[in-house]
Amino acid sequence: MKTKDVVKIVIGVILVLGGVAAGLGVAAGGSGAEDALAALFVVIADCGVGAALILWGTAARRRARREAEAAKQAASEAEQKRLLTPWLCPACGAQTKGDVCEYCGSVRP
Ligand SMILES: [Zn+2]
Repeated sequence: MKTKDVVKIVIGVILVLGGVAAGLGVAAGGSGAEDALAALFVVIADCGVGAALILWGTAARRRARREAEAAKQAASEAEQKRLLTPWLCPACGAQTKGDVCEYCGSVRP
C-alpha cells in the first residue's frame, strides 16, 4: 500500500472519529435544538468526508484485488479452452483432447 493511501485512510479515520466525538459531545452537552441540528450537520459532513477518504485510500487495493481475480478467471477459462481444444498426437496421429493422448497416452507437446 502506498504512503499517500495510508495518509488518506488515517485522515479519514481521524475525521470519522472526530465526527463521532463531536456527536457524543452534543449529546452529552444537551444544548438547544438549533445547536444540535448544526452539530448533527457537522457530524454527518465529518463522517462523510472521512468515509470518502477511507474509500479513496483503499480504492487502489480494491481495484488490484478485482484485477487479480479477473486475471485468475481468464487464466482458468484459457485452461478450460486449452483442455477442450482437439490436438493431433504426433506419436500415434490420432486427434485427441486434454493433456494426454486418449489413444496412446503420450503427453501433449
Ligand atoms: Zn497418441
